Amino acid sequence: MIIKLKNSVSEEQVSRLKSKLLNQGFELHESIGESTHIIGVIGDTTSFDINSLYAYEFIDTVLRVQEPFKKVNRKFKPDNTIVDVSGVEIGGKNIVIIGGPCAVESQEQIDEITPLVKEAGAKILRGGAYKPRTSPYAFQGLGVEGLEILENAKKKYGIPVVSEIMSLEDLPYFLEKVDLIQVGARNMQNFNLLKELGKIDKPILLKRGLANTIEEWLMSAEYILAGGNSNVILCERGIRTYETSTRNTLDISSIPVIKKLTHLPIIIDPSHAAGRWEYVESLSKAAIAAGADGLIIEVHQNPELALSDGQQSLKPLRFKNLVDSCKRIALAVDRTLE
Ligand code: PEP
Ligand code: MN
Repeated sequence: MIIKLKNSVSEEQVSRLKSKLLNQGFELHESIGESTHIIGVIGDTTSFDINSLYAYEFIDTVLRVQEPFKKVNRKFKPDNTIVDVSGVEIGGKNIVIIGGPCAVESQEQIDEITPLVKEAGAKILRGGAYKPRTSPYAFQGLGVEGLEILENAKKKYGIPVVSEIMSLEDLPYFLEKVDLIQVGARNMQNFNLLKELGKIDKPILLKRGLANTIEEWLMSAEYILAGGNSNVILCERGIRTYETSTRNTLDISSIPVIKKLTHLPIIIDPSHAAGRWEYVESLSKAAIAAGADGLIIEVHQNPELALSDGQQSLKPLRFKNLVDSCKRIALAVDRTLE
């Protein structure tokens, strides 16, 4: 249930209302925006008489929220959430590009690629250290050594880093070494992991599951917010359909749907959606035109020799050209890409 308060409401009136609701066992989520003051009420409100609240003259409207997700719901917080990733803001007017290899392969590889992606316009470096591979015989990632390599790059080149966590036992390394913790598509519904990530305050990049609905995806985000961590960025990376020409089908429509349903930012991963490097630029431009807050793109200096996902990785020059053409799309939709 949400309670919209009138602009003229006083602090004393708000605290009187809040005490009444807290005494009834509800959890409250207050959001004060530019022109809105909302109290979100979480708990079983089925037997609560909504009309009784209109006795308070400072209450404007009371609405029941039908959706199962509450804290991520835009009805609870009409203003966009901006997530700060070590100084890089995601969810504001400026579109943020994340670039880097699928997997961290060596210190030399990261030392070569980092200045190139940074120079091309990437504000955050990506690199997987723990890789969720379909085959147990494929390269599984360098583990904690991979995180250390990213940490070195972060210090040397002054760029925040993002990497995927697969297991809770590695959380202490992630807390120490990365700026943004990625939850991959395969772990979107690993609820124990989500609960623990709710207890920290580091930003989380939550990818959409391979075959999950938008509502299931938002419920996973709700787990993290319910635990107390509201620094969540959603990432659409394509879903499984009957189409086989691309690795996944990029659900562009998820962008306006997400923008309507939640205040959280959304970025797009055109690399895992396309599965082929030659489609990545078109999907990137489409994503920005549709309102995405950023992109996460795989870049490799020598895709032919990449230890994972070479077929969908851009060479640095192509990546730079992509960022330049995305700048023009950004301006056309009244955003910036700086
Ligand atoms: C990745 O980003 O490297 C990755 C494995 O992506 P996803 O979880 O979307 O498949
Ligand atoms: Mn990959």
